[in-house]
Amino acid sequence: MELLKKRIQEVGVVVSDQVLKLDAILNHQVDPVLVTEMGKEFARLFVETKPDKVMTVESSGIAMAFATAYELGVPMVFARRKKTPMMDQDTYSERVPSFTKGIVTDIVVSTHYLKKGERVLLIDDFIANGDAARGLIRIIEKAEAELVGVGIAVEKAFQIGGSSLRERGIRVESLARISSLANGRIEFV
Ligand code: 5GP
Repeated sequence: MELLKKRIQEVGVVVSDQVLKLDAILNHQVDPVLVTEMGKEFARLFVETKPDKVMTVESSGIAMAFATAYELGVPMVFARRKKTPMMDQDTYSERVPSFTKGIVTDIVVSTHYLKKGERVLLIDDFIANGDAARGLIRIIEKAEAELVGVGIAVEKAFQIGGSSLRERGIRVESLARISSLANGRIEFV
């Protein structure tokens, strides 16, 4: 998506050769015009998979998932991150390492908002090693719902997350694919 790539070049801050900061548009401040366009693009890419629901994990995925769900005319549900490993009987829960924070969190979805047979589109801001996406996918499997695809704003293609999901036969669409963050420069695939 050219608009996203342009904005990434304008405002992206290369923290290291592994991490890109997009606090000006996605991860702290949110650019509503850009995020609305991203939602339209995800909806265009996945509309024929007939999702019943869009799912993400708090907090940075929420704006994009909302925009996508609005375009598709379906609900959006976000997994919550719980610091305490409290198992509620009415939730699906998975333990996921956080790429940026270096800690492990439990991501939790109420059984009320994820039902057997529902067609679920996953949306997230970044994919690095794929742990967040795999955790959400395990929750979808526990609920006996059906994953129709994964939409990612920024895929760091030099890390294994996107390719590891594609190898499992999962459809992954990324709006911007970064090939390198070396030497403080953002290079796209
Ligand atoms: P993964 O679970 O695929 O290793 O990492 C994905 C999650 O970590 C995303 O939900 C995102 O919040 C965070 N993340 C991974 N890489 C980056 C990055 O370069 N920049 C930012 N801002 N977040 C990242």
